[in-house]
Amino acid sequence: MYRNYLCAMVRLIICLFCFIGLTLNSQEFIRVGLFRASKISSIAIFPKGNSTTINIGENIHFTGKSDSIPFYVSANGNLIDVFYESVKLGSVKQVSFESNPEDYLFFKPSRPDFKGNNYKGKLLITSKDGILNTINELPVNTYLNGVIRGEIGFDKDPVVYEVHAIMSRTYAYRFYNKHKYEGFNVCDQTHCQVYKGFFNYDQFTNSIGITNNKVMYDSVDHTLAEGLFHANCGGITNSSENVWSGKLNYCRSIEDTFCINGKHAHWEFKCSREEFFDKINLDLKNISCEDICYYSDARSIRIPLGATEFNTITLRNVFKLKSSFFNLECNPETDSILVSGRGFGHGVGLCQEGAIRMAELCYSANEILQFYYNGVLIEEYFIQ
Ligand SMILES: [Zn+2]
Ligand SMILES: [Zn+2]
Repeated sequence: MYRNYLCAMVRLIICLFCFIGLTLNSQEFIRVGLFRASKISSIAIFPKGNSTTINIGENIHFTGKSDSIPFYVSANGNLIDVFYESVKLGSVKQVSFESNPEDYLFFKPSRPDFKGNNYKGKLLITSKDGILNTINELPVNTYLNGVIRGEIGFDKDPVVYEVHAIMSRTYAYRFYNKHKYEGFNVCDQTHCQVYKGFFNYDQFTNSIGITNNKVMYDSVDHTLAEGLFHANCGGITNSSENVWSGKLNYCRSIEDTFCINGKHAHWEFKCSREEFFDKINLDLKNISCEDICYYSDARSIRIPLGATEFNTITLRNVFKLKSSFFNLECNPETDSILVSGRGFGHGVGLCQEGAIRMAELCYSANEILQFYYNGVLIEEYFIQ
């Protein structure tokens, strides 16, 4: 109790110090592809604030005090039609919106219809074959605000946000060229990191300020680490080469007792024996219910089913399981298979629910990161 109190006081002092003394000074910019998989053909954009610059094509410029009336942007083949108050402002190859740094733009796909988000910085829009390509260009630190919102949400311990800021900044720089050939750096989906635009939440901003410019490096070759993370490891994290081909020095399997009571620590999946073997293309006549029984406390890459061995990741993908860490048993009375699983996600790198528990127990952001990423160095980012 005393330790928790002391820890809260130390954090408050650090927070106040950083809030007063630190401004977000990273000027690195990032381009984020928005709603790329959703084939958006029409968008409404509401400029929020006192001044927004809108470049419609090369010649038409509109700068002015904004209000709640949106601009509508629609794909027209490889051109874009721009409307304001039902008046067509132009039919152009590119349109951009840029708000003051204090303001933001509310961006809402209207065809198909999606919930919108607020965005800082610039929105650059082009069209190809009737589909709009929207890129949000903004400082990396501002981008991280939307990633923390998208990946871990609200009401967490401030240290959890510091951990996420360092980890997500590392990921952003490490995978800065992931979408290079599409004209942007990262997308806003789980393929990169979930990004939900800007949200004015002091805890996000403070954590980004406190950790300003800090990233993780591989202590062996001093290259930028891959900031990989998942929801819950089920008690044992996964070595990177068990999921992907590359062996990362800092992503070794470790035992994690911090997440074992987490929301996603356990799960179950049931189906009939016939359906199970049908989906994995195996003749079920060869394997009796009694032959199906697999228990292990370790993470396994392959598990035996009768005379055949199966890759756990393949089974995870086929049955859309929450993780590749599970036991199997067959119930002869119902002739059904029960899959009892642990954790949620690929299990490599940081376990979010474990990190949340570690923060409650007063571990620092560096201690949490160095627990999950074996021996990484946490240093200022420099362009290599
Ligand atoms: Zn991506
Ligand atoms: Zn864990």
